This record gives sequence, C-alpha cells and structure tokens, in this order.
Amino acid sequence: MPFTKLGLGPALLDAVRELGYTEPTPIQIQSMPLILAGRDVIGSAQTGTGKTAAFGLPIIQMLGVHQKTPRALVLEPTRELAIQTDESLRKLARFTNIRVTVVYGGVGYQKQRDDFRDGVDIVVATPGRLLDHLRQHALKLDKVQHLVLDEADRMLDMGFLPDVKRIIEHCPRRRHTSLFSATIPPEIDGLIRWAMHEPQTVEIGERRMPAETVRHVIYPVAQSQKTQLLLALLEQIHWESVIIFCRTRRGADKVERLLKQNHHKAAVIHSDRSQKERQQALEGFKAGRFEVLVATDIAARGLDIADVSHVINYDVPEHPEDYVHRIGRTGRAKASGDAFTIMMTEDAPRVAGIEKFIKQRIERTKLEGFNYEYALALDQGRKASLPTGRVRGGRVGSGGYFAAPAGRRRR
Ligand code: AMP
Repeated sequence: MPFTKLGLGPALLDAVRELGYTEPTPIQIQSMPLILAGRDVIGSAQTGTGKTAAFGLPIIQMLGVHQKTPRALVLEPTRELAIQTDESLRKLARFTNIRVTVVYGGVGYQKQRDDFRDGVDIVVATPGRLLDHLRQHALKLDKVQHLVLDEADRMLDMGFLPDVKRIIEHCPRRRHTSLFSATIPPEIDGLIRWAMHEPQTVEIGERRMPAETVRHVIYPVAQSQKTQLLLALLEQIHWESVIIFCRTRRGADKVERLLKQNHHKAAVIHSDRSQKERQQALEGFKAGRFEVLVATDIAARGLDIADVSHVINYDVPEHPEDYVHRIGRTGRAKASGDAFTIMMTEDAPRVAGIEKFIKQRIERTKLEGFNYEYALALDQGRKASLPTGRVRGGRVGSGGYFAAPAGRRRR
C-alpha cells in the first residue's frame, strides 16, 4: 500500500518522500485511517515501528493550518523521547505552517514560555514541566483536540500517571485520544477507560516478541570475568555502533570509565547526568563522535538511534519487558542487528523470566578464544544450548561468527 492511498495531503506526502519513506509501516497502515476518521486508538506496537508518524501524520493533516493556540498535545515519559518526537514531528510538518514545540524539565522556563506566546499548534511535553507551566498559567490546553499518550507503560513505571491525569483534566472532554504502550497493565487499562472513548486497538504482531530482525544470544560468564568478557566482545565482533545497557546509574558510569580506559570513544546517558550532558552524549553518538553509548533503561527507552549494529546487555534487565525494549534499539525499521546479553550464574532466574515473557529460549554461546574460568552459568548454558542459527558472517557458536580478524571494526 502506498502512502498516497492513506488520505494525506500533498505537503505531508512531500515530507514523507523527503524522509525517504517508500511505504507505510504496518502500524501506519492500520492506525492512520482510524485517527483520520476521528477514532480513539490504542497502539500496542514496539518502538521502532514508525509510531510517531502513525499519529503525527494524521494529526498534522487534521490540524490543517497554523493557529495561535495548542490544539495537539503529545505526552512523553522522558526528555530524550520528547526531544526526539518533537524533531520527528517538525520534519513531518516541514511543508506546512504547523508549529511544534517541546517542553521538558532541567532547562530554563523562559524559552518555553516565549514559544507559547509566539503561538504553537503541537506541544510535545514531559508531564512534570508541563504541569509547572499549567500551574503558572503560561499556557492553556482548553483548545486541545488531539491528545497522544506515548509510551504509557513507561509513564506508569516512572510514576507519572497522577500527573498525566491532572494534565488531561486541563484538556476538553471532546477530543481525540491515542495511546501507545508496549504492554497494557491494569493501571493503563484504568487510564484507557477514564480517558478514551470507544478506542480501537491496533496491535502489531506479537506484542511481546522482539523484532524478527534482531538476533540475540547469551554469553554466560563468571562474575570475576564480566568486564574482561565485555572488552573481549568489543574486540572481536564486527560492530559499527553499540549501546551497552546497565541496570544502575553507578554501574553505567563504571562501564563508561572502563571503556575510556581501554581507548573506546564512549559516552553515558542516565538520569543523574544533566540535560546538557545527556544531549551531548546522544548527539555525539548519533553523529559518530562516540562509538559506544552506555545507558540505563529509563534514559534509553524509545530513543530513535538509527543503525545501531549491536546492543550489549552488560547487566541482565530487571524487568523482562525491558529486554524487549533494549534489544529494540537494534534491528529497527527492518535493518538487522545483534543483541548480546552477558549472564552470570545469579542472573539465571532473570533470564528464565525473560524467556518466559518472550516465549522463546535465547541461545547460549561462548566467545571464541576467551579464557573462561569455571562458573555454574556456563554449565547452565551448555545444557540449554540450542541448534545454532544463521547470523551475519557465520553461525553463532560455530566459530565462523567471529571469523573476522580480532579488533577489526567497521564504522
Ligand atoms: P518510531 O517508531 O516512530 O520511533 O520510528 C522508528 C524509525 O522508523 C524512525 O527513524 C522513523 O524515521 C522511521 N520510519 C517511520 N516510518 C517509516 C516508514 N514508513 N518507512 C521507513 N522508515 C520509517
């Protein structure tokens, strides 16, 4: 199905063409006609499926021409996601006169107030800062016709639901509401019943499944060799850009230091870093100045970073759904990617939880040439090992996978 069949005007079709989108993604095909028809939509699609354009294009289309007051509001759980969504919507709206602005904490208020005063059509915001502006009467939401609650499950995890409800109370009751969430826990179900009107659910594939284009394997290792294994992995694999996930902020800082000591160009992104540092890390990574980005789950959720060749889970994630989100950083928009998880003996229950959640066993493998010390995790790995699968450059666990000369990298 071409974009031209979806009822978009010429300005949006031009923007889509300019962005190089040749055909709509499944979530775009399914949700755009519903949103254009004025239906409330629940999208249970993973990040990287094109959901921003799925709601952005029909909303920009329906807003038509610029007016002075906000008529669309998009709530995002993190600053990075807010910034990224703002950038995407601006690109989609570039051939219209619709104005988009973004509002988040950790930076000054004045520029955001100035933007409201100048007049904007679409506000992308994190809940806390938006509430501050509402309390200060810096903007009104009484003309909002389109409300988007993006990554609702993450807003729940971060304790934002009460703020989200307060914000919704500032919006008119007659409006269109879209909600995107990888999972629908009971609290989100409650929000849906309260905030939405006869919503249509658009589900893209198995909600819990990692993208088919991601190949993922587990590297069991003794605790004492965890950092060595990470460094050895980085030496041996063909990687272009890597995100390394850690469970804690301190852990992420430690890994960043380790990488820098070993002459990797690394940056870190987590919630203890200032907004400026986070932005610099993200932009530097996207521009290729940093080849490795070390991140915690909350900081990295939903980040649109194109062409990440590898995700390494330095720590097994605490929550199974974070595994799906993490490895969603690679293999986006049909590109293929690899995701590696380093597993210690004590991680076995977490790994079992992930495998139950995604309804598949994750293959265990060993790094060729690595001088392994004994750990129970290695035995668990042997028992659990599955037939090898095709991966880029060879077969996992067969030796061919690491066939490239050690240390060679493509960038
Ligand atoms: P999202 O899920 O909105 O974060 O989008 C993930 C990535 O897919 C972004 O880099 C988008 O620019 C890209 N994208 C969105 N729609 C399409 C499309 N129809 N064709 C190709 N890429 C797309």
